[in-house]
Amino acid sequence: LGTMAGETKTYLPPSCVSDVAHVKTMEQYADMYKQSVEDPGKFWGKIAENFYFKKHHEGEFFDYNFDISKGDVYIRCMEGATTNICYNCLDRNINNGHGDKIAFYWEGNDPMDSTSITYKKLLAEVCKFSNVLKSLGVKKGDRVAIYPMIMELVVAMLACARIGAVHSIVVCGCFEFDLTFGGFSAESLSGRILDAKCDILVTADGVYRGTKLINLKEIADEALELCTQGGHTVSSCVVVSHVTASSFCDDKTERPAMRPCNVDRSWKDLMQSASSECDPEWMGSEDPLFILYTSGSTGIPKGVLHHVTGYMLYAATTHKYSFDYHPDDVYFCTADIGWITGHTYITYGPLLNCATSVMVAFEGVPLFPDPSRYWAIVDKYQVSKFYTAPTAIRALMKFGEEPIKKYSRSSLRVLGTVGEPINPEAWMFYHTVIGNSKCSIVDTFWQTETGGHVLTPLPGCTPTKPGSATFPFFGIVPAILSDEGVELEGPAEGYLVFKQPWPGIMRTVYGDHQRFERTYFTKFPGYYVPGDGCKRDEDGYIWITGRIDDMINVSGHLLSTAEVESSLIEHNLVAEAAVVGKPHSVKGECLYCFVTILEGSEFTQDLVKELKEKVRHHIGAFGTPDFIQNAPGLPKTRSGKIMRRVLRNVAKGNRDLGDVSTMADASVVEVLFKNRV
Ligand code: ATP
Ligand code: MG
Repeated sequence: LGTMAGETKTYLPPSCVSDVAHVKTMEQYADMYKQSVEDPGKFWGKIAENFYFKKHHEGEFFDYNFDISKGDVYIRCMEGATTNICYNCLDRNINNGHGDKIAFYWEGNDPMDSTSITYKKLLAEVCKFSNVLKSLGVKKGDRVAIYPMIMELVVAMLACARIGAVHSIVVCGCFEFDLTFGGFSAESLSGRILDAKCDILVTADGVYRGTKLINLKEIADEALELCTQGGHTVSSCVVVSHVTASSFCDDKTERPAMRPCNVDRSWKDLMQSASSECDPEWMGSEDPLFILYTSGSTGIPKGVLHHVTGYMLYAATTHKYSFDYHPDDVYFCTADIGWITGHTYITYGPLLNCATSVMVAFEGVPLFPDPSRYWAIVDKYQVSKFYTAPTAIRALMKFGEEPIKKYSRSSLRVLGTVGEPINPEAWMFYHTVIGNSKCSIVDTFWQTETGGHVLTPLPGCTPTKPGSATFPFFGIVPAILSDEGVELEGPAEGYLVFKQPWPGIMRTVYGDHQRFERTYFTKFPGYYVPGDGCKRDEDGYIWITGRIDDMINVSGHLLSTAEVESSLIEHNLVAEAAVVGKPHSVKGECLYCFVTILEGSEFTQDLVKELKEKVRHHIGAFGTPDFIQNAPGLPKTRSGKIMRRVLRNVAKGNRDLGDVSTMADASVVEVLFKNRV
């Protein structure tokens, strides 16, 4: 226990980070943590004082039932108070004298295409679009679908929040490193519009990915047609003319032709005549803020519903502490806004803290025009806090150190990762090469459902171990359960669960509260069950071992995917690996491994032998893989996560793949079927 793929060292925070940190020592963390879990009302109540509430809260901070055996599960926080998250993101900061601070630096696909926007200007745009939405008939509680695009996306989501409409952003971008790829799906868009019965769709004419132009409007039109066939017609489709002219830049060329479709409205025309003043709608703490569908790594995406106040407090607080945010930071999160990481850590968290962020949004492909794009951006804006996903780090590792070393990256202080367990190999690369061994690495574990980080190191105090998400954030009480639901103490491995609510936890699955209860609260009554496995080492560090759904049972031994994959990735020819269980007549299941090897190297039988030996050495004889298959590409969600449920079917030779609406590039699966062993 306690190590993955042989990594044992502990890394201390660099003094340049800890000297100025909000939390400088583990004693201070322990102290704050204790307060946060023993008296959550006092802890969060104090934080709430930094925000504007139209009406103050009285009574208990939390009201909840986590125990389904005692009745319906519910979570409420600061009920009775009224506020507006958009007001807290913009007006409040402007009233505090920060109107001229840059809210976002925006970097287009083309390095020559960049712009920025201040808090004041952002508020004016948001108010205008709020008025546009009102003029289109949108009222508090109505749902607005947004099919991502550029900076207007942030404007649209904040405008929804301002007038109390519920935004539902559909991911169409993805961590995709193949620049020729452009398979965006009208089905997944229409499915989500239908599920939430959205009346309005906000989209763009198109976007560039690398050198390729993607016609978003065509996809949106197809989706709208599918919606009508599904019995729900969207009343207006607002289209940003992005390809020819962003509304933040001057007109460059002529505008694209709108299709002969009577719901189309031009963003620019609507905005031109809209007033730049709009009073916020004062929302109840437990009024809904947004719907967001999970990534679909393990099954059909769930429409997670987040609410105003709890989400606001949690987004701001996690952003402040997990990145040790300070007012002079420049913060850069590479995620797509259509993913929860973008919601919490591009839009809401940073704006609530009055941060300056770099946004590459949908168009930012880390390999365009070359694999050093991120580092060029880091140097250009002197980025101090950087946040990305293991899939991006692994992709960049393939190009070696040279594209990274071309830039100084001397402004970097904190490097965050999210989305999947980070293999120690990738962690070390992040730390030593990208971070020059001078940054704190924060491996943040969380979910769409949790609203913000739940397990994470704090950059100024937590000694880190490569591959471990370390300790709980304030207010989070994790436990590890056995199969029988018994809480395990000390070093142990089992189900990760949480014992009490925190402000940012989801309240329900949109339109299906039973699915909410079934998915998260039924397996172990009294606990929130995220669906991930974990282990605790002798120092109390928590290591996420992968999805419970993906665990493999070989001859009675439960194996975690993270552990086997980390061991495969240690081989210097392996760029990426995914392992699944395949039914086996004697062992129950056996290991079936998919490995992507470095470009230019050869997949040979010797390599297969070496890899089998490597896993056997690390896991034990029973863990020797039966199959190792060459995988030029792996099926991934748009947020870059490996979809092992699809790989299980490949291993079995079963072509019925289930819901693949969130898969980034379906063509890789065909290749995998061809290469089966
Ligand atoms: P679905 O729920 O539809 O299968 P998903 O779980 O991939 O999709 P997200 O909410 O985007 O949807 O992802 C949350 C999951 O991502 C976590 O449950 C966990 O499995 C994984 N994850 C996120 N961050 C980390 C991390 N730092 N370490 C390990 N796993 C992580
Ligand atoms: Mg999930």
